[in-house]
Amino acid sequence: MREAIAYLGLGSNEGDRAAHLGRAVERLGAVPGIGAVRASSWHENAYVGDGPPLAPFLNGAVELRTVLSPAALLGVAKALEAEAGRRLPAPHHRPRPLDIDLLLHGDTIVDTRDLVVPHPRWHEREFVRRPLRELGLDLDALPRWQRPAVLHTPAEFAARCSTWLGGGCTVGLVPTMGALHDGHASLMRRARAECDRTAVTIFVNPLQFGPGEDFAAYPRTFDADLRLCAAQQVDVVFAPEPAAMYDPDFCSHVAVGAAATTMEGALRPGHFGGVATVVARLLALARPTHAYFGEKDAQQLAVVRRMVQDLGFPTAIVPCPIVREPDGLARSSRNVYLGAEDRRACTILYRALASARHAFARGERDRDALLARARAVLATEPRAALDYLELRRDGDLAALPPGPVDGGRLLVAARFAGGVRPVRLLDNLSLDAPPDLPAAAEAP
Ligand code: AMP
Repeated sequence: MREAIAYLGLGSNEGDRAAHLGRAVERLGAVPGIGAVRASSWHENAYVGDGPPLAPFLNGAVELRTVLSPAALLGVAKALEAEAGRRLPAPHHRPRPLDIDLLLHGDTIVDTRDLVVPHPRWHEREFVRRPLRELGLDLDALPRWQRPAVLHTPAEFAARCSTWLGGGCTVGLVPTMGALHDGHASLMRRARAECDRTAVTIFVNPLQFGPGEDFAAYPRTFDADLRLCAAQQVDVVFAPEPAAMYDPDFCSHVAVGAAATTMEGALRPGHFGGVATVVARLLALARPTHAYFGEKDAQQLAVVRRMVQDLGFPTAIVPCPIVREPDGLARSSRNVYLGAEDRRACTILYRALASARHAFARGERDRDALLARARAVLATEPRAALDYLELRRDGDLAALPPGPVDGGRLLVAARFAGGVRPVRLLDNLSLDAPPDLPAAAEAP
């Protein structure tokens, strides 16, 4: 390893704090491969962090020259923490005699499960900034961890995900077309809770739009999307241009089965082939351990699950519940195009589905009676032009024969034509799902 200048952040809030810090500096100077150790003075700081307050810290920073790799330097830091009496692995939210963070290591970038360099939060912490300034550094010139990192080429995206996987991280992928809202945010939250790293893709995929559909007019709100991803602490946003995803000779497409030719597939021929192709391309690039899809697009979810099983992608597909407006409307990027009247009228979709679910909860089991119940509610709203209403088996959405059902998922699509532009809205509801809204809001 070539020599690099590295910076460590030191803190102590237990025992003789100054003695712990002073000894760490001394010991660092004696480690082979480390030299020119220079320490700031120590400053008293109130505890910053989650949970109940801890005793105040004494903090400072150390500059050193080293031929050790970032991982080896971290190993030295952990050994010094243990020597000072810190229990390792360190229990969360406990006083600690010595805490050493690797802040910077030359211009090296590390992004593994155990170590991220530059330290993702160094520039947010005054107890780190002050001693670094004291060491004579221009903080604005130092590298920072940019989160989310915005990547535009498939090669960069694949490389970043591969680094994560190589570093032992689980990776959660959230594919989207942008114009992000709370529904997308719920997928990101789930990915973040379950995975070490979260990648969001923002790509309005031309392959899944038919001629005359709204590809050109699909809402594009990239700056706001990035802010939403930053608020959800997404690590990477992959936002390619269509030409980067599909080069001029691109000609391999995923064919989907007969189940993808009903409902949305019947109205949008080729749509699910386009969805499956882009999802396959994204899964092949990122090789995520998990990928998050909304139940809002239940048929898309079924198509993707089938494809992942058929083609053997090593990714767990995680379904996420529909996020709704307070009046029941499922959140959707296209809702912005609804006119005021249609916006009021379109709650009929959820109320129709909820009404059939209510009938099911009261004992109605006949497939056609349940559908008739929902259809009667839909018929009360002349602004809604119904495309389809179906009751399908939950999960794979296979057709259910007439007669009694022991559950299932109702799926509806309708057009509303009174706004800025005509909007097709989709919704669905499991007959077994508990009510999302207070009874009054669900009443037809
Ligand atoms: P889109 O950007 O519309 O392609 O959606 C990207 C992902 O977000 C898909 O998996 C959608 O099912 C999901 N999604 C969209 N709207 C919602 C919502 N209201 N609740 C939960 N997930 C959603």
